[in-house]
Amino acid sequence: MPTYRSFIDGAWLNSVSGRTAPNINPANINDVIGESELCTREEARGAVESAYNAFKAWKRTPAPARGRIIAKAGRLMEERKEELAAMLTREEGKTISEARGELTRAINVVEFCAGESRRMNGETIPSELPANFAYTVKEPHGVVACITPWNFPIAIPVWKIAPALVAGNTVVFKPATITPGTAVMLTEIFYEAGLPQGVLNLVLGSGSEAGDEIVNHPAVRAISFTGSNEIGIKLYQQAAARGIPVQAEMGGKNPVVVLEDCDMELAVESTAQGAFGSTGQRCTATSRAVVVDAVANEFVERIVARAKSFKLGEGSDASTHIGPSVDEGQFNTVLKYMDIGREDGAELVCGGKRASGDGLDNGYFVEPTVFDRVTPDMRIAREEIFGPVLSVLRVKDFDEAMIVANDSEYGLSSSVFTNDANNIYRFVDEIETGMTHINSPTTGGEAHIPFGGIKSTGIGAREQGSTSLDFYTELKVVYVDYTGRKREGNLY
Ligand code: NAP
Repeated sequence: MPTYRSFIDGAWLNSVSGRTAPNINPANINDVIGESELCTREEARGAVESAYNAFKAWKRTPAPARGRIIAKAGRLMEERKEELAAMLTREEGKTISEARGELTRAINVVEFCAGESRRMNGETIPSELPANFAYTVKEPHGVVACITPWNFPIAIPVWKIAPALVAGNTVVFKPATITPGTAVMLTEIFYEAGLPQGVLNLVLGSGSEAGDEIVNHPAVRAISFTGSNEIGIKLYQQAAARGIPVQAEMGGKNPVVVLEDCDMELAVESTAQGAFGSTGQRCTATSRAVVVDAVANEFVERIVARAKSFKLGEGSDASTHIGPSVDEGQFNTVLKYMDIGREDGAELVCGGKRASGDGLDNGYFVEPTVFDRVTPDMRIAREEIFGPVLSVLRVKDFDEAMIVANDSEYGLSSSVFTNDANNIYRFVDEIETGMTHINSPTTGGEAHIPFGGIKSTGIGAREQGSTSLDFYTELKVVYVDYTGRKREGNLY
């Protein structure tokens, strides 16, 4: 059984903490994949110091040369794609096709970021004075902390680490404790691609201890976080006290709006994909279906039939559609929300309990669940569940649909199903989410397109696409006077 170690200052660390955490396959808890050695606070500090010491030389490395290393990491990920996908499925539980999809996204992000290394352009700006001009230069912050969740344990670290490194920062990477295997493999790949010692440091350790030590270290100059609102807001407060920037992508409660004139087959299929795919463990998962009364009965009948058609099982089995919840805590949270839905008076129309039998008894499987006649005040309409649970909210018309869809503290993703062009554009104008989809699921994204949310979901610059380097760079403004004389006139 492998032992996962932190990688600090170019070497695998034998932690003195004596504390370990098992890496468990959530589809079969008897399958213990490995064990992580958890860092002490002092060891986490060592990771920041290593990144700090490596920063000057990495910043001086020309951006295209940094990009070449990142591009090579992408090629190595491609070579090890099946091995990475297998580990992702085994430790996180998603199906093997979802795992391959995540790998494809990560490789695309790496390719995109490598290209950006040749486009770290500034501006040249004419001055008010003769023989003067100004220009801007993009510069790295220094040490950046990348703190990541378990649900996309390859793609999310990659879409933080790759732009951070291309921009010339050095990185301390703190992955979720329950997905160490993929984090170790990614770190190996970046180093095999040619990163100098200390440029990327992996810290395996608990968030409340090792993570806390990293984000509060004075040498850390920026924090990129993806995870829960509770932790994201805490990190934002801590960073504010030190005056450093934070990028935080947090929870979602993403609605689909289903209107009378929609293609019902498409609406049902896309909602099912968004709600139950990846076991509902996507920040962009569909968790609310806001459906006009005229088509609500048909929608509910068809989505229930679709929910019941999915095969649950171990993700490595190619015939599996839906894997388990990631761990016992998440499994219990989903079951708890099923109880809350019932207690609050929603109508349970399918699922609602642990899934068992057929090889499911050793895993954290829950049935794909649909609650009908959910009202906007119910907790299952307001709180992120992060499981395969869909709440159907019935509304009388488009206007009410928009009020209900926007009645959320979150603002990540959304969809509308309609063939009326006027309603499509009204929806785009009025929906309060950072991303929206027309006649397609709330999920998904592309490496070259910005990704992120508004309201309580997102803080700071968008990740990926044309905005991917924004968070990782500072702007330096340079004034050039080539008159060779004392300045004549004033600049105000
Ligand atoms: P989480 O509990 O907030 O943990 C995220 C990361 O923060 C983990 O690495 C965790 O370490 C670390 N952490 C915890 N406490 C910390 C502290 N005091 N200081 C520094 N780091 C700390 O989130 P999760 O359960 O892993 O992920 C699920 C959440 O992520 C959901 O809310 C989901 O919506 C959100 N998410 C959002 C997006 C988006 O783009 N908007 C994408 C994916 C996921 P440990 O693992 O050791 O606790």
